[in-house]
Amino acid sequence: MNILVTGGYGFIGSSLIKEILETTSHSVINIDDLTYASNLKSLEEIETSSRYSFKKINICDMKELEKLFNENNIDSVIHLAAESHVDNSIENPATFINTNIFGTFNLLQISTKYLNSMEKIRKKDFRFIHVSTDEVFGSLGLDDDKFNEDTPYDPSSPYSASKASSDHLVRAWGRTYKLPFIISNCSNNYGPFQNNEKLIPLSISNALNGKKIPIYGKGNQIRDWLYVRDHAKALLKILKYGLIGESYNIGGSNEKTNLEVVTIICRNLDNLIHKKPLNIKSFTTLISHVEDRPGHDYRYAINSSKINKLGWLPDESFESGIIKTVDWYFNKSR
Ligand code: NAD
Repeated sequence: MNILVTGGYGFIGSSLIKEILETTSHSVINIDDLTYASNLKSLEEIETSSRYSFKKINICDMKELEKLFNENNIDSVIHLAAESHVDNSIENPATFINTNIFGTFNLLQISTKYLNSMEKIRKKDFRFIHVSTDEVFGSLGLDDDKFNEDTPYDPSSPYSASKASSDHLVRAWGRTYKLPFIISNCSNNYGPFQNNEKLIPLSISNALNGKKIPIYGKGNQIRDWLYVRDHAKALLKILKYGLIGESYNIGGSNEKTNLEVVTIICRNLDNLIHKKPLNIKSFTTLISHVEDRPGHDYRYAINSSKINKLGWLPDESFESGIIKTVDWYFNKSR
């Protein structure tokens, strides 16, 4: 298969491309506009592979997308390109509306046109995998059941609302134009090559630089953490075994408060680094509570039983994944 991956220089896209090239015989075409969130280093180890190619394309540019689809045999699309940081969506929602909604609309249009021109034999295997988030479901209370695939959408931020909109567009293109889509809604990811704006890399890098580690409000917001390579593996299971027109929730069953996550990171760093900056005793002393984000969801938790039935389970526990992650950022900083 020749798989078109959008947003392949991003945190999850780059992990997915490495997983595809390392564990399958598929080829990958990566399109990415190389925004601030991309990281060219993330694919250095595979970029010379004969099964990999890259084109710098903005998914809002329909002409470029048309050219790409005309010039390549594409067997499936895995769509990850997006603006992904909630804080940025509060400051500047317009780019989220453009990329996450109009960009997805463009990909749906061009994929549908392309599908209709495909020969029958290739057409039956074509899939449009739309990579979305659990944030579309809104916020849970402490005793609420975990999100499942039937949980109603109730997004809180411009980011999650733009992702929810894109999910609705994908479903509509499936029903109206028979585009064979599958949607995934995944919980918070962590691991190597995540942009420094996100909680885990920000906490590690601030600690290493002896800076305060900001934490919103009391830090009691709960997220269900998943190691990024486990997300990549789940997407490949969905591509291979997922049912057309279905959605799959993906989570790590690792519910932790933000304060717990940052404290675990600090304790891991305490074990790694004996001579600490500022002569502090423990990195936990750098934790600093700041004013909470407006509209901050309290809890996300995922019921993954549907994707478990496709034969997917995460390989990493939070404890094993966070050690790998802290080690990776620590070694990168040296
Ligand atoms: P990211 O911000 O790290 O990467 C996004 C990538 O998309 C970047 O390489 C960027 O250059 C590219 N991009 C942005 N706008 C583009 C445009 N207009 N045209 C082409 N490329 C563009 O994001 P991520 O964390 O890797 O997330 C990938 C996808 O997974 C997103 O759709 C996100 O909503 C979803 N998701 C993320 C998480 C998470 O915890 N990070 C969890 C669930 C779902």
